[in-house]
Amino acid sequence: MFGWQQGRLCYYILLVREIAAKLDCMDEEREIELTSEKPLIAISRCLLGEPVRFNGEARPVDWIVQILSQHCDFLPICPELEAGFGVPRPPMRLQQQDGAVSVVLVDDPAAERTEQLQVACERLLSEINPVHGVILKARSPSCGVEDTPLFNKSGEQFATGPGLFTRMCKAAKPGLPVIDDQGLQSEAGRVSFLIQVFRYCCRRRTR
Ligand code: SF4
Repeated sequence: MFGWQQGRLCYYILLVREIAAKLDCMDEEREIELTSEKPLIAISRCLLGEPVRFNGEARPVDWIVQILSQHCDFLPICPELEAGFGVPRPPMRLQQQDGAVSVVLVDDPAAERTEQLQVACERLLSEINPVHGVILKARSPSCGVEDTPLFNKSGEQFATGPGLFTRMCKAAKPGLPVIDDQGLQSEAGRVSFLIQVFRYCCRRRTR
């Protein structure tokens, strides 16, 4: 990333902090105290460059690793590692039948992994209680936010939707800002997410 781009993004983040603080914290003294602390963001470990994907690869995002990390603290999570599936592991997909979603192996759809993953997600959800936002990997059967492929029992994709962890996270923590790496590709997406995060952070600290 060029120096001027990096500088501009840093400027946006500082601006967003200021806007979010002003929106929720009218007391000036309190505002200074609130904005001096960094928000905490739960984030998919593969986006930080950890080789934890099913095939042993990572999916680092430069903007997150180099810029956002200076302004937020990260709590790395990986639902599939938490479930004990290991690396490498057989790829999984989401299957939906009569409204019920299950997690099955791509190469053996009779092999269900739903319960194991659900237990791991519940454990992670209790661990991310202090966070002010969540950044997840798009299209993953666990972490996808809205574009994870949904298959029927015949193995045909018929729709897209959230991954299992995201479904459980949204149900358990309404109002918590959640986005995937695709949503952070545009400057508008980054600014919008950061405003939500800093506002959520301010609200938490003023309670
Ligand atoms: S997408 Fe989620 S479950 Fe898959 S490797 Fe990344 S953090 Fe782990």
